[in-house]
Amino acid sequence: MHDYDLLVVGSANADLVIGVERRPGPGETVLGSDLAVHPGGKGANQAVAAARLGARTALLARVGDDDHGRLLLDSLRTAGADTSGVLTGGAPTGVALITVDPSGDNSIVVSPGANARLAPEDVRAAAPLLASARVVSLQLEIPLETVAEVVRAAAAGTDGRPGPRVVLNPSPAAPLPGEVLARCDPLVVNEHEARFLLGDDPAGGSTEPEEWAAALLTRGPRSVVVTLGERGALVADDGRTVRVPSLPVGAVDTTGAGDAFTGALAWRLGVGDDLETAVRFAVRVGAAAVTRAGAQQSFPTAEDVARL
Ligand code: ADP
Repeated sequence: MHDYDLLVVGSANADLVIGVERRPGPGETVLGSDLAVHPGGKGANQAVAAARLGARTALLARVGDDDHGRLLLDSLRTAGADTSGVLTGGAPTGVALITVDPSGDNSIVVSPGANARLAPEDVRAAAPLLASARVVSLQLEIPLETVAEVVRAAAAGTDGRPGPRVVLNPSPAAPLPGEVLARCDPLVVNEHEARFLLGDDPAGGSTEPEEWAAALLTRGPRSVVVTLGERGALVADDGRTVRVPSLPVGAVDTTGAGDAFTGALAWRLGVGDDLETAVRFAVRVGAAAVTRAGAQQSFPTAEDVARL
């Protein structure tokens, strides 16, 4: 039997945020607001988003043996995510240094830290965790070779049983090996990631997300979901393409909306929804997440989504 609807394999970062009147130029020092420290990273965000909705979810990740690592573990546990797969040590917890000006524009420096040490051997050691999940969700803030190892293990399955279904959000955008693309069901991209993966493909120059999805499908994924911000999302597989409109909400802060969307989508696939139904739910979760400030602290519960 499966213990988890969803296993997320990915990053955990502490977001260190300072508000500034003006972001500093080269060689310049500016004074800013008090420091705010928030739990973040795409992997931890997805796990927290799913757990808050009620998912049976676990995270496979690596943090440092430090206060930032403990902040992340605490946030995951409070949301109800299983942290037995969160490894500790090897490097400091990953950090994002963020300066944000009054217009909301930001500059970010990421130190991957422990995320960069989440290795293929960690995936092999976590084989039982992988075998106990219906869906595994991946992003690209950990080494690509580690992502590829998860995909390989999912393809191989365990003791003759099929491995988990693979959901991948290729963020930050990077080229993907064919063996990884071929297992994605779905590949979840925003506009920027879609155009990046399309590269020189003429479809990348189109303004029509339907054309991006059709061109991306020829690269091998079993299905594609394109997130379109306030316009909702688009679902495409070999049979058909469906637009799922968003809900009109007063957007306050879109940080983490994509992670909430993908965490929710992957969870619903894990409990047996078909892809379109899962996307319809995820669009509501994404909309709820933008109505509140912050990333993890903005993620809705199932009741919040129902009230929307
Ligand atoms: P990312 O954050 O990765 O760039 P998007 O901006 O496409 O991704 O947002 C992900 C999802 O969050 C969207 O598909 C949508 O469901 C929801 N969302 C984002 N921005 C808004 C908005 N302004 N109003 C309503 N929903 C939104």
